[in-house]
Amino acid sequence: MKIGISSCLLGNKVRYDGTHKRNDELINLLDKHELIPVCPEIEAGFTIPREPIEIKNDKVITRNGKDVTDALISGSDKCLNKIIDCDFVILKSKSPSCGYKKIYDGNFSNNLIDGNGIFTDMCIRNNIKVFSENDIKLIREYISQ
Ligand code: SF4
Repeated sequence: MKIGISSCLLGNKVRYDGTHKRNDELINLLDKHELIPVCPEIEAGFTIPREPIEIKNDKVITRNGKDVTDALISGSDKCLNKIIDCDFVILKSKSPSCGYKKIYDGNFSNNLIDGNGIFTDMCIRNNIKVFSENDIKLIREYISQ
């Protein structure tokens, strides 16, 4: 299968603080499949490191209040083009870009609310099946069908 995946889950240091979120269980599970790494924030032109961002009132804002919505939409659009023919995507939970079902509430206070990241929403609207890295059991079932 061809699978789009948040770049940070593969160990690439693309997160806002210059770290990664490598997930070896996921990488081992997918070792026979073609992986397409994507990072909407890098495609948006954001630097490493960078200010953290969150979604508030449908806008993407940095901790200092800068509106970066348009840039992140543009970055997400570029990522969508890369994964448009994938069988599904696996996206990093809680991120304002890649989060699935839960994201931070926009107050930079570590509170989670129901919602999806900008890129995740775009994938769903384009009928791309989405999992998060926490859905390993579901992913295992899906790829063994
Ligand atoms: Fe990882 Fe997505 Fe954040 Fe990039 S935008 S660092 S891929 S969670």
